[in-house]
Amino acid sequence: MAHNPNEFTVRGACPHDCPDTCALLTTVVDGKAVRVAGNPAHRHTDGALCTKVSRYPERTHHPERILTPLRRTGPKGSGRFEPIGWDEALDEIAARLKEIAARDPQAIVPYSYAGTMGQVQSEGMAARFFNRLGASFLDRTICAAAGGEALVQTLGGKLGMKVEHFAEAKLILIWGSNSIASNLHFWRLAQQAKRDGARLVCIDPRKSETADKCHEHIALRPGTDAALALALMHELIVNDWLDHDYIARHTLGWDALRERALQWPAERAAEVCGVPVEQIERLAREYGTTQPAAIRLNYGMQRVRGGGNAVRAVACLPALTGAWRHRAGGLLLSASGHFPVDRAALHRPDLLAGRTPRTINMVTIGDDLLRESSPAFGPKIEALIVYNSNPVAVAPESPKVVQGFSREDLFTVVLEHFMTDTADHADIVLPATTQLEHWDIHTSYGHTDVLLNRPAIAPVGQARPNTEVFRQLARRMGFHEPCFADDDETLCRQTFGDRVDFQQLLDQGFATLPVPEAPFAEGGFPTPSGQCEFFSARLAAQGLDGLPDHLPNHEPAGSDPRHPLAMISPPARNFLNSSFVNVKSLRDIEGEPLLEISAGDAAPRGIADGDVVRVFNDRGSYRCKARISPRARQGVVNGLGIWWRKLGMDGSNVNELTSQKLTDLGRAPVFYDCLVEVEKG
Ligand code: SF4
Repeated sequence: MAHNPNEFTVRGACPHDCPDTCALLTTVVDGKAVRVAGNPAHRHTDGALCTKVSRYPERTHHPERILTPLRRTGPKGSGRFEPIGWDEALDEIAARLKEIAARDPQAIVPYSYAGTMGQVQSEGMAARFFNRLGASFLDRTICAAAGGEALVQTLGGKLGMKVEHFAEAKLILIWGSNSIASNLHFWRLAQQAKRDGARLVCIDPRKSETADKCHEHIALRPGTDAALALALMHELIVNDWLDHDYIARHTLGWDALRERALQWPAERAAEVCGVPVEQIERLAREYGTTQPAAIRLNYGMQRVRGGGNAVRAVACLPALTGAWRHRAGGLLLSASGHFPVDRAALHRPDLLAGRTPRTINMVTIGDDLLRESSPAFGPKIEALIVYNSNPVAVAPESPKVVQGFSREDLFTVVLEHFMTDTADHADIVLPATTQLEHWDIHTSYGHTDVLLNRPAIAPVGQARPNTEVFRQLARRMGFHEPCFADDDETLCRQTFGDRVDFQQLLDQGFATLPVPEAPFAEGGFPTPSGQCEFFSARLAAQGLDGLPDHLPNHEPAGSDPRHPLAMISPPARNFLNSSFVNVKSLRDIEGEPLLEISAGDAAPRGIADGDVVRVFNDRGSYRCKARISPRARQGVVNGLGIWWRKLGMDGSNVNELTSQKLTDLGRAPVFYDCLVEVEKG
């Protein structure tokens, strides 16, 4: 067959909020992306992508892509818009922002998260723009802040094992993670370890697809992970499964932690966690007597009131047994702290020129959009610039979020690929490029390689990269600093400066960081003490408990007779948060919004499999289909997310029920700390 001269392949990186950060190979034919595959030369990707991103051409060339700037013509939320030109759109935005900034630039709030994980198209040019403007800071807490803060306080940073070494472990605890759905490439390593004789234990309230394939599943109640970790410590102590030398040389606060853990016999934890005593004792014996033992912690378990303490408690375990001595031992929650991003060069905080704007927590955007000006809060929010995020679908307590976004006096700009629930509430929508259409550079939180993303195709329609939007807005706002003229390739180079070989990225698409094989084998924790800090003086100085403890949920199971069921809302397997919900082939696999409920909870409510149910609490009500399933433990329902509201059954989704309460550390959300009741209908 003759070779088509208009067919070629381009190296890139997956931009999605997933620890795997895969290397992509996009095949382009006649200017269209026709295939996206995993790059076999990148060992972490190993030629394989998940189902979601394998459908990237379908998403990129989707008939519903936004192709031009749009101006709202109907009421907020109606989704009625008219096309306008780029100049008209940018002129109007700049005029509105100037008018507001003249009163107080803090009334303008950026709202963004990990719609793309790329350093350049996320906060590259955007941070420069908002710093120069003096807009409110956004505390980007919605996913990982509690666990991240816990790692910083315990290990000294978001650091841990190199993921590839899990393949050599003899025991793997998969804690709070449905790896098959959301960390596929780690799962391949875990399977390799299993084939070589390792034991796999899954700790998760939900009997996930991953739990199905592990040797054992511990279905604890949501928000009780710290109790389990403290009971494991108790067993390690009373059975003397401790590495006394490692504890003496590389930890801080052992005596106090020992005293705390001795208050947590397995019987007490079993009561709190709702699991058998023997299961806790067996897990402790396995963990205390198997080397190397590795823990793959993920962020699900920290979305409760005590999430930060829970991560701290789990992060103490490898130091107690000396698991860190082995390259296949220790813990991995996030590897992102290994990446030497030059944030001063990229984000240019110097453009603040001494100003310290107030900070808005993205988790409480519902409440904050409804606040008036006050000395404590600062100015009322008058403008929101949303990019890489869909807060109307993903932020907690959506009745308030929707009410806030519906304010007629709020000026909202949304940079998007599709008309999401959030875009429906915009005044102006700007068409954004996808990953196949722009430059970017990527860190990872699941491995330790830097990846470069080159554009494979020209922007679809009139779409523009986020960087270009903020560049153009800067010019119209009169921001003439030379940094606003940097092009995207320059921004990619500035991200790491000479800390990463950019030529290698251009030639190969990825570069491996020089991370030690066993980072804490000889201690060397980057905490203030240089030790693994069981006791954190920094937390104590804030008036918090310096030791990890079990903190009951804001909404503990059994505390509210009107709402007796605990609900968690893990992502549906074929969606990634709210991304991909509008990709029909993936939505067809998911079918309809589902609530998994145990047979024991369904029967007394007269609920049959497939019934439409109403899930409710005092915050709101959500209709979906019930699936009677062993995936739900008794007393807990699993509301799979995150559907777009307008694609759900009654124009809502599971966040109708979640609260804006915060975690113990990191001011993060508590999506899995939520009591509900369920009824037919
Ligand atoms: S979502 Fe995750 S597994 Fe899927 S392609 Fe992206 S990085 Fe890889």
